[in-house]
Amino acid sequence: MNTLFRAIPAVDTSLSALRAAAPELVGSPDAPHALLRDLVVEFWESRREAIRVGRYRHEADLTLERQLPALLSHVRKGLRPRVRSVLNGTGVVVHTNMGRSVLAREACEAVSLAAGNYCNLELNMETGGRGSRQAIIDPLLCRITGGENAFVVNNNAAALLLILDTFCKDGEVIISRGELVEIGGSFRIPDIMEKSGTILREVGTTNRTHEQDYRNAITEQTRAILRVHTSNYRIVGFHAEVGLSALHSLAQEHGLPLFMDLGSGSLLDFSSSGLHGEPTVQECIAHGADMVCFSGDKVLGGPQAGIIVGRHDMVERLKANPLARALRCDKLCLAALEATLRLYIDPERARRLVPTPRMMSLSAADLARAARSLARQIKHAIKTVELECDITLRPGISRVGGGAFPQYDLPTTLVCLAPVKGSAMALKTAFLQTTPALLGRLEDNAFCMDPRTIPISRFRDVASVTVQALHILAGR
Ligand SMILES: *Cc1c(COP(=O)(O)O)cnc(C)c1O
Repeated sequence: MNTLFRAIPAVDTSLSALRAAAPELVGSPDAPHALLRDLVVEFWESRREAIRVGRYRHEADLTLERQLPALLSHVRKGLRPRVRSVLNGTGVVVHTNMGRSVLAREACEAVSLAAGNYCNLELNMETGGRGSRQAIIDPLLCRITGGENAFVVNNNAAALLLILDTFCKDGEVIISRGELVEIGGSFRIPDIMEKSGTILREVGTTNRTHEQDYRNAITEQTRAILRVHTSNYRIVGFHAEVGLSALHSLAQEHGLPLFMDLGSGSLLDFSSSGLHGEPTVQECIAHGADMVCFSGDKVLGGPQAGIIVGRHDMVERLKANPLARALRCDKLCLAALEATLRLYIDPERARRLVPTPRMMSLSAADLARAARSLARQIKHAIKTVELECDITLRPGISRVGGGAFPQYDLPTTLVCLAPVKGSAMALKTAFLQTTPALLGRLEDNAFCMDPRTIPISRFRDVASVTVQALHILAGR
């Protein structure tokens, strides 16, 4: 074993070999010497570990010459930025693992402008003195939702925390048992409530809650009634919940506020795309919710944010809570959100120009056409390099994701690849190593991609990464 350890080349020797093998990589200003050195040390440490567990038996396998390709690949990976773009072929429109929403072009431009320049974030442009960072967003949100006042924080979890901390601390909040949900990523409504120092009064049963249940639970300690949109699941069958208007009357009768965590918080009606039953923010305000909170980066299609709209006096109290400062969002978020919301002033414009609602609204015919075009481009690309793969079109389903419209299957056409050599599973793994990587799904021994979540402008990239993936699969 000692001879094997001694066979490992010195760090400086490795660095010289890397420089000779990949001058463009190792000589680049993006490859600081200290980082390169650490990567080389890390690589040889992994080989020492492999020797210890008996994976190497011959010195010849540990020469720099033999190990150089692996070393180069380790260094390449280590120098790559951690955040990279990927192609989403999963057909899940709001995919939390892939950063949820893709911003509209208008929003990207606004972010870029605010990012690379000083901006009037907190400037009063009449006096040159201090202004409010939200002053730009609030009137837009009120205009679009019908709320009297608005406030934006870091995300919807923060919005809920702020509401509970401001209005319900050390008191009780009434919530239906059927709404005590876990959203994913370990966000659980009861946990947030506990953190805010609020006591949860659960009423009703999992599948049925009646007005009388709420009424019976109201005591001196009650601070509010909370309704949580159950987002990622649906109770079907024997089910009852109290309508928003009835809850509003009950809350009024007892002088209690009615809050609503809408989750996705759609500003558009998607029933023309066959998506029903998700209340819009506007409807919730109109039916008497005192404050509504929702995410900026789910169905809305904007940046990560927690948006709160509702009664003027109540929102003012949120803004005055010291916690608001800790939960505030930055200039990039506000710039993106403003640009996105401006598109919503005309709902049809938002549906056309904001990628999330646009992808949700694509029709089965649009997608069949897109799938044919995508398949054609892939076939063409792989033919020119003489790689073999069966390409078929199949009917399939897409999902909205992000906990919105969970019960709906959106019809689509999948482009399915079955490699002639190697398995579909291996092809899926190969697509993780392409530049950019492409995420898809396995169905019936084929790797399938859904054109719903791939913009037409990226079809050429999909064709080119398919060639890369088939090369990787073939071990070339
Ligand atoms: C997604 C969701 C949240 C959390 O929103 P974030 O913006 O991810 O913090 C809270 N409540 C409901 C009902 C949700 O669907």
